[in-house]
Amino acid sequence: MNFEKNIEKIQGQTKKAQLIVVTKNQSLKNIKRIYQIGHRNFGENKVQDLLTKQQQLPHDINWHMIGHLQSNKVKLIAPFIHMIQSVDSLKLIKTINNCGEKNQRIINCLIQIKIAEEDTKHGFSITEATQMLRTDILSQYNYISVKGIMGMASFTANINQIKKEFKLMKQLFDSCRPKYKILSMGMSNDYTIAYEAGSNMIRVGSAIFKY
Ligand SMILES: *Cc1c(COP(=O)(O)O)cnc(C)c1O
Repeated sequence: MNFEKNIEKIQGQTKKAQLIVVTKNQSLKNIKRIYQIGHRNFGENKVQDLLTKQQQLPHDINWHMIGHLQSNKVKLIAPFIHMIQSVDSLKLIKTINNCGEKNQRIINCLIQIKIAEEDTKHGFSITEATQMLRTDILSQYNYISVKGIMGMASFTANINQIKKEFKLMKQLFDSCRPKYKILSMGMSNDYTIAYEAGSNMIRVGSAIFKY
């Protein structure tokens, strides 16, 4: 049960990347331990869990929504969410913008890119995202601040496949810099590969909370 040591190891391997501690399925007690060693950026993939944890934990935590978000639930998290990393449709962009306006907050977002081969994963295709990010389409939304892109590689043991997908993300990221600063990719199983490919934000859960 050495969460602290696990984090140290991960951060040692990814020195220039920001670590988002993914707290999904974790008890408040476990999350508080991570909080106590100074971490403030936590990720959740379900709205209901996010709400419960936000209410019960200290209010200086930066919460990142990382899972598929239904438009009708945006209003629930809009008052406090630090960043929505899973923006995967134009409809969602419009809804987040409306909810931002109602709350008089500019909401940080990442555009989710579908790089994996699995059909279950959400996100814009590389082509759609390239179009959207290289043009001004997003600048009409005054209550959204797009900071970059997020992606998840295929769940596979084939490292070359994972490398290939992260490389596509990096190419897209480079093609729309310097406007967008965050390249969020890498989870417990592939954060070292993601980091080598240029990730500057990793989202890690199970490799931290393992016993
Ligand atoms: C669960 C999840 C993670 C973290 O996964 P682990 O394998 O536990 O590190 C990262 N990103 C997203 C979008 C997730 O849903």
